[in-house]
Amino acid sequence: MMQIFIPLNFLGFVYREMKGALANIEKMFSLLSVKPGVEDLSGATSLKVTEGRIEFQDVQFAYKGNRQILKGVNFGVESRQKVAIVGASGAGKSTLFKLLFRFYDTDAGVISIDGQDIRGVSQESLRQVIGVVPQDAVLFNQSIRDNVRYGRVNATDEEVDEAIRHAHLSDFVQQLPEGADTLVGERGLKLSGGEKQRVAIARALLKKPPIMIFDEATSSLDSRSERGIVTSLREIAREQTTLVIAHRLSTIVDADRILVMEQGRIVEQGSHSQLLADGGHYAVLWRMQQQESGAETLTAAVSAP
Ligand code: ADP
Ligand code: MG
Repeated sequence: MMQIFIPLNFLGFVYREMKGALANIEKMFSLLSVKPGVEDLSGATSLKVTEGRIEFQDVQFAYKGNRQILKGVNFGVESRQKVAIVGASGAGKSTLFKLLFRFYDTDAGVISIDGQDIRGVSQESLRQVIGVVPQDAVLFNQSIRDNVRYGRVNATDEEVDEAIRHAHLSDFVQQLPEGADTLVGERGLKLSGGEKQRVAIARALLKKPPIMIFDEATSSLDSRSERGIVTSLREIAREQTTLVIAHRLSTIVDADRILVMEQGRIVEQGSHSQLLADGGHYAVLWRMQQQESGAETLTAAVSAP
């Protein structure tokens, strides 16, 4: 049985927006920060965040009835650190953040924030302190400004516009016929993957949670959107504990620590330069991506008139 704890007027509003959109329910939950299946303990307390320290201790997890995805994951993220997670598709990277957000409970091991086991706190208090920029941000058929306002529904127009600036969306928004009031989605403008993700970044900046999770878009971003995202990320990471799941290694070379995941385990960790010097999986991945981007540049040069 599904249980949804959100204000009914908001739900009605979302329903009106969603019913034509056929958005899948998991996406809706990721936007609304709710998820069926996980329940608060009867004595659940409110999560109290002072530092924004995250710890995974021997975390194991399998999606219901399926093979084990996480096979004992250990790592910590200190206050205001920026930690990146890299690794092949299917390694379990997005699963890590679904567990941190408590979309699911772990099968073994503990995830804690500032020393509090996340199973012992209310989901509402947990989700208030974590901002997620998902791989596939969901936008509604509304203006850009309203889409950003989901981050904090009572924000003023000035605050929304500031978040748009910080997410490096201003140049894009200024070109639109009605600026930030331009409708997006089915009835309006179609946004690229990178632009959608920057709307999601603006949302998260408006929410300003102490912990930020960023699941980078897999769809190949052009180098301009990539630069925009890298800049936004740097700004976010200055004040917040940031966990970045990175597909393009070039976006995370400045991370405090990089964790390399392979088949549900962390197999290497260190800074970019340490990992290159170690000459392991990361170094191989880095060389591969350097060759790919070199090949792209070459193709572009060859096909130029
Ligand atoms: P990554 O983000 O590293 O690409 P994921 O954490 O998304 O990997 O997925 C890890 C594995 O878990 C994959 O094999 C994927 O197919 C599986 N998986 C992801 N989500 C679900 C789900 N909801 N139910 C069952 N299996 C899933
Ligand atoms: Mg993923």
